[in-house]
Amino acid sequence: MSLIVQKFGGSSVSNAEGINRVATRVLETKRAGDDVVVVVSAMGDTTDDLLDLASQVTPEAPAREMDMLLSSGERISMALLAMAIDAQGGTAVSFTGSQAGMITDALHGRARIVEVSPSRVRRAIDRGMIAIVAGFQGMSKDSNNITTMGRGGSDTTAVALAAALNADVCEIYTDVDGIYSADPRVVPSAHKLDRVSSEEMLELAASGAKILHLRCVEYARRFGVPLHVRSSFSHHEGTWIIPSPDDKIHLQEGEPLEQPIVAGVAHDLSEAKVTVVGVPDIPGKAAEIFGVIAGANANIDMIVQNVSTAGSGQTDISFTVPIVEGKDALAALRAAQGSIGFADIEYDEQIGKLSLVGAGMRSNPGVSHTFFEALHQAGINVDMISTSEIRISIVTHADRLATAVEAVHKAFGLDTEEQATVYGGTGR
Ligand code: ASP
Ligand code: MG
Repeated sequence: MSLIVQKFGGSSVSNAEGINRVATRVLETKRAGDDVVVVVSAMGDTTDDLLDLASQVTPEAPAREMDMLLSSGERISMALLAMAIDAQGGTAVSFTGSQAGMITDALHGRARIVEVSPSRVRRAIDRGMIAIVAGFQGMSKDSNNITTMGRGGSDTTAVALAAALNADVCEIYTDVDGIYSADPRVVPSAHKLDRVSSEEMLELAASGAKILHLRCVEYARRFGVPLHVRSSFSHHEGTWIIPSPDDKIHLQEGEPLEQPIVAGVAHDLSEAKVTVVGVPDIPGKAAEIFGVIAGANANIDMIVQNVSTAGSGQTDISFTVPIVEGKDALAALRAAQGSIGFADIEYDEQIGKLSLVGAGMRSNPGVSHTFFEALHQAGINVDMISTSEIRISIVTHADRLATAVEAVHKAFGLDTEEQATVYGGTGR
């Protein structure tokens, strides 16, 4: 008998039919003899709708009340799922994040988990019940207020529970059959990966692949929780994310131990480019600029500094930030313009980032050449470049991103004949 944590995303529980389908799925696992803990997201686009609603009431919602509002989405799903399981002859009990012992810090909207004490969940499963937990939320230890963990946070709830309960596997159910070599909504000929290392998955998630929350992957890697990403609409085997390179538990016999050079291509339209123009070219100015950005709590991704024109004594520094954090970053920079002494700021939201990820890049020369040649053939103008050991990323114009993704995907031989199935969801 195993303990399985199953997480169902918004598109899997988008209406009554979906909730009933998920209930059947959960009961199948339970009736096969395993213990099940379920984590649910809000139904469909509920979280976005709640955000829209709040913005119609006020542009400046207090963070505490925003979390009270957003956490209600997951509570709707958990209660309905418990009812559906009951109606199908099972016994289920639902818990909010705080009832399930998800203790976080006090940062509303992006709370981090500090402790997981799921004693009520444990008692429920010991009594033979199916425990259902509302994703993406917890309670602050200091303030006792309800917190949420950032968009997509239910994945992290599921992994944190799996780790705390010592579960055998954490299954993430979604609207596609697993992790693909590119977003199948953009590249229909993308192929499903049978397995991907957590190292590659971290890079893919950090590069905009929305299928898994970045923090969920980090958490799973840290605590050695095997993740299985699969569809709630089919019974196909999905993608296994292997927590560490030494962990070959799910390799099938006869399968090559060496990984392919490239795992996949991720894209991201959620960032904006900020260019600080005419920065005095003397030591300490970059530190001042990024100090200001850090003070505004904005996360920087790519950074480019141009070579200053001889004699001008000035340089331009460009970087990308999430669009949602862009406004605060700009305001903070403008306030510091006098003291830092730069000439101007440019801001561009019409950018897209493409990232090629693969653990095999380390030991295979020529990857960069193939990559840039593919972009050249597709007529893509590259605006910024950054790399890690196992990733190359570029920024281009937002309108050109899909073309760029297709070109790179094809150049690395990642296309298949079969069309990927997207079972649901709006991709919103
Ligand atoms: N409902 C939240 C969101 O839409 C959390 C989640 O789905 O994981 O971001
Ligand atoms: Mg999600």
